[in-house]
Amino acid sequence: MGDTLERAAAAARACTLCAAELPLGPRPILRVSPTVRVLIISQAPGTKAHASGVPWEDRSGERLRRWMGIGPEIFYDETRIAIMPMGLCYPGRLPKGGDAPPMPICAPTWHPRLLPLMPAVRLTLLVGSYAIARAIGRGSMTAHVQAWRGRLPARLPLPHPSWRTEEWERRNPWFTADLLPDLRARVRAVLDSGVDAMAPGECAWWEQVKGAAEPGT
Ligand code: SF4
Repeated sequence: MGDTLERAAAAARACTLCAAELPLGPRPILRVSPTVRVLIISQAPGTKAHASGVPWEDRSGERLRRWMGIGPEIFYDETRIAIMPMGLCYPGRLPKGGDAPPMPICAPTWHPRLLPLMPAVRLTLLVGSYAIARAIGRGSMTAHVQAWRGRLPARLPLPHPSWRTEEWERRNPWFTADLLPDLRARVRAVLDSGVDAMAPGECAWWEQVKGAAEPGT
């Protein structure tokens, strides 16, 4: 019998692979469904998400939703938007402060099993340097984000939307002026328009949607 997303997600939620290294124990957090159009690959849950089981219910989540141009009612619509961090469980803190990196075994274990079971995904947001490094490669986060057009239409790299990003945004005005309007238009187009006939990674549909949205083009 073939794998199903329901079965794979249940297995991920029951995972205890690195229990011995997790300060609060395993609590895998992911939101997936076979119909999702937008996939958010983020870093790892924090303590608040670990306690509640709901990711991005904080200031960083508010910032990410503002970037995407959507409210919580769409963001948490599990039939339309998937959230699958690089580490599904809270990894703890570094000795000198700051969040510990996602558990390295997690994404290689679960992403290859879960991703093929979400065939309707048309836009993957790579949120933060860990997701960017796995999907695109190592290097400067800023350089990867600044080169976002080269990853379209299937993927779009973003910084982690923590409070530290406010200063980063001020130093990189192209992000607010150019990338965010493009991101919002793409999220809206992927969620609302009928692009089912297009294969993932195919550019034609976006050019059509964009052309239709821009009078005179
Ligand atoms: S971090 Fe990932 S691999 Fe480790 S226990 Fe949680 S779900 Fe399993």
